[in-house]
Formats: sequence, C-alpha cells, structure tokens
Amino acid sequence: MDCRASFYGIISFKFLKLGCKMFKLLNPDLYVRSLTEIPLADLKARGIRGLIIDLDNTVTEWGRATIDNKIYLWFKKLKDYGFKACLVSNNSGKRVQKVADFLGIPWISRAGKPRKRAFYQATAVLGTGLNNTAVIGDQVFTDVLGGNRLGLLTILVMPINSREFFGTKLVRKFERLVTRRLVLSDSNEGE
Ligand SMILES: [Mg+2]
Repeated sequence: MDCRASFYGIISFKFLKLGCKMFKLLNPDLYVRSLTEIPLADLKARGIRGLIIDLDNTVTEWGRATIDNKIYLWFKKLKDYGFKACLVSNNSGKRVQKVADFLGIPWISRAGKPRKRAFYQATAVLGTGLNNTAVIGDQVFTDVLGGNRLGLLTILVMPINSREFFGTKLVRKFERLVTRRLVLSDSNEGE
C-alpha cells in the first residue's frame, strides 16, 4: 500500500470528522423567527424548566434598554408556564441589569459566550440542570455553540434588527453558511 496515500486518507478522515462535529455543534435544535414563536407548551412537555436568554437582538434591539410590549407579555407568559428565565449577555452590566430588573429576572453580563462558565452559572442561578435548561439567542457562534457544548437544548431566533456591533456583522457572514440550511419552525404559539 502507498504510505503517502494512507497518510493523506487518515488526515482527510480526521478533518471530515472534525468538520461534522463542528457542524453539529453549530446546529440549533429549533429555529424560529422570534421569541414569541417559541412553542412553550412543547418545551414544557420535553421537561424544560429553565431558559437562558440572550439580550441583544433576541430580547431588545442592539444597544437598547427598552422592550417591545409583545416581548414583555411573552416574558409574563413564561411565568404562567412555570419557566424560570435568566438573561445572559456578553455585553457589560448596566443595560443588561436594567432590562432584567424590568422583567424581574436574574442576569449575567460579560458572559463570554460560547465559553461554558456563564451557562453553568446560569443553571445554578435558575436551579435547573443541564437536561432541563434551554438556551435562546440570535447568534450561532455564541448562543448555539455555547449551549450545544454543554448539551443544552438550543433555540436560534432571527435577529430583531440588522443594526449591530461591526464584529457581529462579520460573524454573520459565516453564520449564513449554517442558517441557510435551517428550516424555520412554523409554530405560532404567541399569535
Ligand atoms: Mg444577541
């Protein structure tokens, strides 16, 4: 057997395996247009009790500290379903706190997603485990990747607005490689 051919064969196989693993980590379990379209009854039936929720472009527009009434009502509905929620943002404190205080839920800022630390912190705050917590956010490389690394249920929402941090805009180009293959859920629970 040609040694060089088998060497390149092994390397290609390893890259392929790594690529498949990475692709799995970047894929959300559910993809919806907005928070209000998340099928809360289904989540509850699956045993989910805690929700780790991103702030920018998931709950509010980027840089804003005010919330649309529709979103505010959705958070109220979470309580009716018995879900506990925690805001987890890579952004700095004040605005995250302001929104979380308004919603009456705990918060974690400077989370460093997709690193695992903040996700562990959030489950501790929520009093839930990895098997009954979901992550909701608008970014594949922070929210989805971070949640999948811990085996949490991951829900990707479409960003509220195209206005965002310039670094995020660059990352969106790579995100499109993943999201263009995703099928939007047609749940309209909030409507
Ligand atoms: Mg975001």
